[in-house]
Amino acid sequence: MKSNSKKQNPRQRHVPERSCIACREKKSKRDLIRLVSSTGFVEIDLKGKGAGRGVYLCPMRECWETGLKGNRLEHALQAKLASENRQVLVEYGQNLPRKRENHS
Ligand SMILES: [Zn+2]
Repeated sequence: MKSNSKKQNPRQRHVPERSCIACREKKSKRDLIRLVSSTGFVEIDLKGKGAGRGVYLCPMRECWETGLKGNRLEHALQAKLASENRQVLVEYGQNLPRKRENHS
């Protein structure tokens, strides 16, 4: 059994952590893709600087599939996701690698 003692390091640099809305894993903001809802349209905010309410997804296909299923994203963003808007996000997700680390 591994004992992972996570000591609070007072000199630790502040790395903001966010959790993916699909797998709920906590990661640093840099390792996630931010989606932001501005003016009722959900956009992929690659710079992470878009104004508005943001949610995060892992850059992995599975998380996008899960995150875009049902109304999870809408619920998290408290926004309506039009079907064409959803399609843009689904297509983006389809270009992401699968989680499985099986490069062949
Ligand atoms: Zn995830």
